[in-house]
Amino acid sequence: MVGHSIASISRAVLDLFYPPVCPGCGSDVSEESDWICSECFHRLIYLRGPFCRTCGHPTAEIRGPAFCDNCPVPQPAFDQCRSVVHYCEIMRRITHAYKFDGRRCLAKPLSQLLFWGYRRYYAGERFDAVVPVPLHPSRLREREFNQAAEMLLHLQKEAGFEMEENIVRRVRPTEPQSQMTGIDRHANVAGAFEIVDTSKVQGHRFLVVDDVLTTGNTVSEVARVLKDSGAQFVAVLTVARATANHPS
Ligand SMILES: [Zn+2]
Ligand SMILES: [Zn+2]
Repeated sequence: MVGHSIASISRAVLDLFYPPVCPGCGSDVSEESDWICSECFHRLIYLRGPFCRTCGHPTAEIRGPAFCDNCPVPQPAFDQCRSVVHYCEIMRRITHAYKFDGRRCLAKPLSQLLFWGYRRYYAGERFDAVVPVPLHPSRLREREFNQAAEMLLHLQKEAGFEMEENIVRRVRPTEPQSQMTGIDRHANVAGAFEIVDTSKVQGHRFLVVDDVLTTGNTVSEVARVLKDSGAQFVAVLTVARATANHPS
């Protein structure tokens, strides 16, 4: 019972700093003992196909070229990209709470969304390594964790893959992409990443993972350095993605 009391006290102290509120709407979720309230959960929009073959943006119909108007400019370096839910206002608040407000525990439920996407879109694929999009060391010091790696830590055992954090590193910090034009976005991330060990890349198949995809230029640049070092196949998976045809 002593252990139980200590656990209760620890929980009470934790709640003082991190009250169990829904990161989507701020309502009390202590009764539901869950990460978001059921109302917010039901407002998440799972992306549905058909998708652009390459970037995974929902499209009315697939025909003709493998690229669409929503593919990264000038051209994506990854072979395929898929995301699980639309980056709606609720998802924006959840990922913000996760990355900027110290709600690191959100990694676990977010990893389950990621796992859903992994099984749905990549169940038949073989990957040699799963690579979280790296943060620049200065950003990592500030945030204390890499949001993509943290999700993968929860997932790798269950999913049966190996996360590789030391294949790609970010050598240049980049500005947020949201206010830039397509070409600026490309220039912003050009040269931001570098391969640590090319012997781990040549002829290998990779899955690159991040929490949110906005323009796709960042993951495309990670894919480019992998491809330039001889990667055979590079796919991308993110929890959320901004889309042109869903309201935020
Ligand atoms: Zn809520
Ligand atoms: Zn596309």
